[in-house]
Amino acid sequence: MARILAIANQKGGVGKTTTCVNLAASLAAAKKRVLLVDLDPQGNATMGSGVDKHAVDHSVYDLLVHGVPVLNIVVTDAGGGYSVLPANGDLTAAEVELVGVTGRERRLRDALEEVDVLFDYILIDCPPSLNLLTLNALVAAEGVIIAMQCEYYALEGLSALMDTITKVAAAVNPQLVVEGILRTMYDPRNSLTNDVSAQLHSHFAGKVYRTVIPRNVRLAEAPSHGLPVMYYDRYSRGSKAYMALAGEIIRRNEGAAPPADDDHNSQ
Ligand code: ADP
Ligand code: MG
Repeated sequence: MARILAIANQKGGVGKTTTCVNLAASLAAAKKRVLLVDLDPQGNATMGSGVDKHAVDHSVYDLLVHGVPVLNIVVTDAGGGYSVLPANGDLTAAEVELVGVTGRERRLRDALEEVDVLFDYILIDCPPSLNLLTLNALVAAEGVIIAMQCEYYALEGLSALMDTITKVAAAVNPQLVVEGILRTMYDPRNSLTNDVSAQLHSHFAGKVYRTVIPRNVRLAEAPSHGLPVMYYDRYSRGSKAYMALAGEIIRRNEGAAPPADDDHNSQ
């Protein structure tokens, strides 16, 4: 059974898509069977995985609105070692088209149930808002990875997301938890970064990933080549950070002992 993780934050530009693509590739490189679900009409995770969002026959829109099965949509040979459920601009219409449909927030969950024996991890890239698409992700997921930049307003934004997670857990998906909080575009020379980091540790003890993702230009360049960073510049700091994150997530999920202070994140 796959572990289903939504990568969320209603703020745009915080590194959700970058995390989804590079974590998918890193988990796949660790021999995990991975499905990436693009739930953002911008289709950035689709393109960043090497799938042309304009050229696909079906997309996640057809799954949500027309009930097309995952296996008729999934792209298995995208090149990053993982499978992709692509998205494109069609998805913008899904919210309106699903108005009045009962159980519309469960469409993704029901669809993924049919394939979750085929994968070890299913990663869902959420759009930058708390809309029906994000709700579908939170209803389908077991855990939420919150990607965030350590900046002044970041914590304020977190409370709306935490409220949503709590409500979804209470109403429809009791298994839902915050899987972890990931600090992205991390710059340790910035004192605000350290302040926000300290606050995160005190509010979310045990949830903050030890791995931080540095600001690294290779991570920003890789998507224009349709490649996860590990196939663009394997030895970049960004590539190493996402490999370390995959290791941390595998250890957390597969019951290994909690990492010691000097664990292997900096490999
Ligand atoms: P989101 O999905 O949350 O909107 P993205 O992953 O698309 O955010 O990232 C926003 C922009 O920042 C993109 O141009 C991306 O390439 C860039 N970016 C993301 N993470 C990093 C990083 N660690 N270092 C440098 N650039 C990054
Ligand atoms: Mg995105």
